[in-house]
Amino acid sequence: DITEAGWNLDNSYARLPKLFFSSLEPDPVRSPKLVIFNHSLAESIGLEPEALESDDGAALFAGNEIPEGSNPLAQAYAGHQFGNFTMLGDGRALLLGEQMTSSGERFDIQLKGSGRTPYSRGGDGRAGLGPMLREYIMSEAMHALGVPTNRSLAVVTTGEPVYRENILPGAVLTRVASSHLRVGTFQYAAKGTSVEDLQALADYAIERHFPGIKEHNRPYLSLLGRVVERQADLIAKWQLIGFIHGVMNTDNMTVSGETIDYGPCAFMNAYDPETVFSSIDVQGRYAYGNQPPIAGWNLARFAETLLPLIEKDQEQAVSLAQDEVSRFPELFKQNWLEGMRSKLGLLSKEEEDESLIENLLTIMQRHEADFTNTFRALTLGKLEGSSLFDAEDFSKWHEKWQERVSRQEVSKDSIQEVMRRSNPSVIPRNHRVEEALEAAVEHEDYSVMEKLLEVLADPYAYSPEQDEYTTLPVPSGRPYRTYCGT
Ligand code: AMP
Ligand code: MG
Ligand code: MG
Repeated sequence: DITEAGWNLDNSYARLPKLFFSSLEPDPVRSPKLVIFNHSLAESIGLEPEALESDDGAALFAGNEIPEGSNPLAQAYAGHQFGNFTMLGDGRALLLGEQMTSSGERFDIQLKGSGRTPYSRGGDGRAGLGPMLREYIMSEAMHALGVPTNRSLAVVTTGEPVYRENILPGAVLTRVASSHLRVGTFQYAAKGTSVEDLQALADYAIERHFPGIKEHNRPYLSLLGRVVERQADLIAKWQLIGFIHGVMNTDNMTVSGETIDYGPCAFMNAYDPETVFSSIDVQGRYAYGNQPPIAGWNLARFAETLLPLIEKDQEQAVSLAQDEVSRFPELFKQNWLEGMRSKLGLLSKEEEDESLIENLLTIMQRHEADFTNTFRALTLGKLEGSSLFDAEDFSKWHEKWQERVSRQEVSKDSIQEVMRRSNPSVIPRNHRVEEALEAAVEHEDYSVMEKLLEVLADPYAYSPEQDEYTTLPVPSGRPYRTYCGT
């Protein structure tokens, strides 16, 4: 029986006060077909891949069948979208339940594109195949790169068209996350509800993600502090691999510290802090270089929601919360510096490291050098394939760097080992992703995507098969653009 293929579902979220969700079933689709399935992820959460990789599995991942123990619901939340506060909620997603693993972990199982919900507003509740496959590729690549993220379990096509600018084949994506609690969930709680409801949400978040702080003197202040730490870790990891999220609205920032919402994200090619891919981000609010301060801004919004819980005396609550939020820039900086040192093979700390790093970035920007490939070349010790390496300012920097590296009393091998672990050889380059999507969507040929996923699954391997995935696109004269909500 497909509904029993290893499912061990609970829905603790459904035990929160009713205002936090709406219970409803997914809308069945015409003819579900499983087009991509994550075997190893299924296994790692206790599911039976053989049973699920079938027509019955397709029906289940389309929402036509509901797994045993499921209690489907759409989550309510709010959020600042490009700075403007809005009431939101899952407009095209449903939480089926939480899969409990034998090791005691709990993962949200969520369908995206499963039909309209009370939070759909004008939307159709559906999703296009290309964007769902894109999210699958990007999130699995991020996981392999070592970045906390929700993951992708399956994509099914629905056999129904989705009407956007063009007509797209419809699809449903199944996602796995350690939770979908967002800064925006707290904003929703703080807006229209009682302090009791807000506290129920905060207690739930603590139980689920930070049970160790329950006994703290001020547990809700500790909750804020933990989220500040998780986000300082996450955003540093994004910056260190050139990941641009593209839509860092507060509803897209998790309490768990996982990356969610892969709509308009993309990896930077040439190093430039002002890089933006999202078609709607005309002001560059979510540009690469703005990601750390925006995270800080979002955390301040999170802190505001917790004030009534932190301390009765609101003046004191504000001052305590401010202290926590103001830790973010310094924590981020430490994580980033540590990561940049590793990228450059600096195993010890020296006062001048920061200026060495900043100088390299300035030179890279001046010469429009590819972010990933520059560090890859430094790792391999093969300075070829870019005009950067012939430039005089770079040569001077390189000499300084080599001096600095060789001052360390460690073997060349162990330095290279650290650099390999810190500098991916392959990332999901936009032209490669597009090529895979085109083959899948236009020609129902999934082999290009499968090969790409295989390469991206081991981004630090530096294997010869990866070489062809490191080449840059032929310049098209048009900037690459990404889209949300398709
Ligand atoms: P996002 O920009 O992906 O964070 O989405 C913002 C909001 O729009 C969320 O509440 C989504 O659930 C909702 N949304 C996006 N696309 C659709 C759609 N096709 N139908 C209904 N709601 C949608
Ligand atoms: Mg979102
Ligand atoms: Mg989205």
